Amino acid sequence: MTLVAEPIQTFDPLSVRKDFPILSTESRGKPLVYLDNGATTQKPRSVIETLQTYYEKQNANIHRGVYQLSQLATEGYEKARRVVQRFINAADPAEIIFTRGTTESINLVANSFGRAFLKQDDEIVISGLEHHSNIVPWQMICQQTGARLRVIPINDRGELQLETLSEMLSPQVKLVAITHLSNSLGTVIPLDQIIPMVHSVGAKILVDGAQWVAHAPTDVQHLGVDFYAFSGHKLFSPTGIGVLYGRREVLEKMPPYQGGGDMIEQVTFEKTTYAPLPNKFEAGTPNIAGAIGLARGIEYLQNVGLSAVRAYEKQLHRYLTDRVQDIDGIRVIGTAREKAGVVSFVVEQPSISHHDVGVMLDLEGIAVRTGHHCCQPVMDRFNIPGTVRASIALYNTRQDIDRLAEALEKIIAVARTKNRTRSGSTATTTGLQDVRFPDPEGDCPETVAEELIENFSLFDDWKDRYQLIIEMGEKLLPMPVELKNEMTRVHGCQSTVHLFARKRPGTVDSLDFLADSDAELVRGLIAILQKVFSGQSARSILAFDVNGFFRKLGLEDHLSMGRRNGLAGMVERIRSHANQILSVSG
Ligand code: PMP
Repeated sequence: MTLVAEPIQTFDPLSVRKDFPILSTESRGKPLVYLDNGATTQKPRSVIETLQTYYEKQNANIHRGVYQLSQLATEGYEKARRVVQRFINAADPAEIIFTRGTTESINLVANSFGRAFLKQDDEIVISGLEHHSNIVPWQMICQQTGARLRVIPINDRGELQLETLSEMLSPQVKLVAITHLSNSLGTVIPLDQIIPMVHSVGAKILVDGAQWVAHAPTDVQHLGVDFYAFSGHKLFSPTGIGVLYGRREVLEKMPPYQGGGDMIEQVTFEKTTYAPLPNKFEAGTPNIAGAIGLARGIEYLQNVGLSAVRAYEKQLHRYLTDRVQDIDGIRVIGTAREKAGVVSFVVEQPSISHHDVGVMLDLEGIAVRTGHHCCQPVMDRFNIPGTVRASIALYNTRQDIDRLAEALEKIIAVARTKNRTRSGSTATTTGLQDVRFPDPEGDCPETVAEELIENFSLFDDWKDRYQLIIEMGEKLLPMPVELKNEMTRVHGCQSTVHLFARKRPGTVDSLDFLADSDAELVRGLIAILQKVFSGQSARSILAFDVNGFFRKLGLEDHLSMGRRNGLAGMVERIRSHANQILSVSG
């Protein structure tokens, strides 16, 4: 073990924890361990109370009312702007534009800057680490303007290849949009090196600070950025509020992004003139309570002290990295020399899908994120479908990380003792005649479904039902590798799923099907579908109320949205095969 031994002294996370009511709740009957801060952070009591007070005592629309309440709300909103200004050391409050979040901030720049400054053959440069929200808006504006999108590649450690950036930079490049801290791998980007390079060719720089701002002080003037975007909800503040910082000189030259109330100076049917900054970019009634809540979230963080937070989190991040990478069977993805906040990993020995790890951790009361983290190109670069991601905030402790590590060790140990050789994925066969398909389990889908619902009703607890589903998945008939191809792949599932169906030999219109997945839980769901549908007539499959069935099994309440979509995708595939069989059999 290479654990860091020195005590963490600068900062008292236990007293910080007391400020966050949710951290003393339970999840799945165990004290909650919240390690999904990259997705969103929890809110301190002061922020929650500020929202309540605002709605109880100050709520009114801003800027337009002559009455006291409206003036109070306006003051709160504009004070929030100044709080944000000081937080990132902007030169002027007019450089702070309130948005819905990082995504909207980037869309604002892509659309407004794009319309004003981009033309055919200009170039926008992003990096291979970007979140989809810093990729897609640029693709969209490139399509509209004829500009080209170029991507700085990343190396095997998940660091940007800066030599390639310097080769890419030319007067054709109009803007470089880059993250400050990668949400999928935790790489910290060396902005101090990049920004002078970008400016030397006359391009502008936008930094996606969504992940960074909660972890360390940010000084937009010192950095020398042209745009800086972040979200309130990742900063201990409400959802639906975010910030775009833009240098005044650049913002002045950009046209409005959206039209509407509050962003105008004068409107006639012939012509409209726009309000000065920042209102030009804030059309319509903004998220007033959100902005006031954001200011309170920032003040909370400032009271704790961002430098102390940075120092504490550095140690905690090292501890998390050491604990996770010391577990036999785990591979950390993203080993950049400078990292913060995030540790991403896969369980390889034995191979357990990231989804299954996430679900099993959830059963232990531990919240982590699994999947591609809205960074599909990063996953492609590492040739993996997704990772398990633990991401920390100032209120996390070594105890949280110990619980995570112990749960992971247990998950791996159980998987090893089960020693499940997933024969399905390795079975090979010489022809379809060798393949075994399950026999029908009852006269019609309804009878089998009733039996399953009864079995499930013996277990009140989702944990037990989950176990039952896993056990069913372990008994799946193998699906030969020859049947796993692009034709049989079911897209839309978070895991890799293949489904092969055919008319059952010797029947008029019955359906046989085999399926497999790299995710344990999905194999269980396949087993359920197979029990109900395999060997049944196409007509009865199409008539079956599958959603009602899933509801009665409790799947609707407990499966994530992604999983439910995947399940719906499989059902859709089965139904479409049933339709085909019917159309051929007449
Ligand atoms: N960029 C990064 C690096 C992120 O992590 C996220 C959120 N996961 C976003 C952008 C988008 O933020 P939001 O959904 O709050 O707009």
